Amino acid sequence: MNFEQAKALRIQLWRTTLDDHDFRMESPEAHRSTLLESSARLAEEGLIDRIEQFEMDEMANAAYWHAVEELQSNPTIFRPSYGYDVLPRGGGPRIGTIFHSVLRLDASSSDSLRPYDGKVYRDETGLVLKYSSSTETGSIEGLVLTMADGRQFDLIEARRMVQGKVYTAIEDPDVYRWMVDVVQVATETRDVDIVERIRPFLELARFRQCSTCLDRFGKREDCTVCDGQGFVPKLLSRSYLHNSGG
Ligand SMILES: [Zn+2]
Repeated sequence: MNFEQAKALRIQLWRTTLDDHDFRMESPEAHRSTLLESSARLAEEGLIDRIEQFEMDEMANAAYWHAVEELQSNPTIFRPSYGYDVLPRGGGPRIGTIFHSVLRLDASSSDSLRPYDGKVYRDETGLVLKYSSSTETGSIEGLVLTMADGRQFDLIEARRMVQGKVYTAIEDPDVYRWMVDVVQVATETRDVDIVERIRPFLELARFRQCSTCLDRFGKREDCTVCDGQGFVPKLLSRSYLHNSGG
């Protein structure tokens, strides 16, 4: 392989990562840092010059901010790095959890011989859940799990690992409001450090942007859906709030 072929191949790999929509939306921070590391290595090895590196990094940054803005208005997306509570749609107690794509049913939690009950995979059809002990399967669309027999479950973000530590969802509306404002200002000034640090907790919180007024100044004040708050609880189910002990 000559220099030009090697260069073309490596840039193609970088390009494939840049275009990986699922990776970008599931973890924008990891997506961006993977691209920056890859261009830095290409420059180090002399395959690209500093101007090419700069241009590639500009594209990686643009893709990052695009994802951040998109996720602000539509955060319902399954993420392997999260822990979810699995609840029947329409009410009822939790049946289990999915953490790092591994399903554990509450009913079998005392059975130490069973390491897990199922796993979430991505195949050509999208996200699928496969039980380990039976042929039962389901598919995940947004944050709704639909089993082959038609039963449906809500996946509620409950915890998440951030830099090796597990955090639970923030339930205080004042803290949520503060995080929204900080991230908004940092997004406008393109301050990656601040956004990277706060965003994981913002997305995990029990609230989401109001889809009626979109938290827009001038519309929010008169919005009856969110009572002028600009945000609403992710799930209004009372039974969930009472049953989500752990
Ligand atoms: Zn509203």
